[in-house]
Amino acid sequence: MSGGWVDSNRRAELPADWYTTIRPHILQRDEHRCRWRESGRACGRPANQVDHIGDRHDHRPENLQALCEWHHDRKTSRQGNLSPNRAKITEARTRERHPGLM
Ligand SMILES: [Zn+2]
Repeated sequence: MSGGWVDSNRRAELPADWYTTIRPHILQRDEHRCRWRESGRACGRPANQVDHIGDRHDHRPENLQALCEWHHDRKTSRQGNLSPNRAKITEARTRERHPGLM
């Protein structure tokens, strides 16, 4: 029951200039620091990964951020739970109330 669109060939979808142009550009823009934020604080550790903030088919700089390896791994390992439908499902669930609780 995964999202269906999350699969093993995600690397193949990166553009041709990802490693030569896009990736170095983002790392430089973010000063090679992890941009992961938690509780309002940035991680700030040395970053060597470039992550898609939202749509992984969107390679514009505003959708990309530098991450340290640890946070990048953490995010990609959770990606199955981050499908766009997730919010809707949760929303629908909160509206349903268990009859026994009313
Ligand atoms: Zn980090």
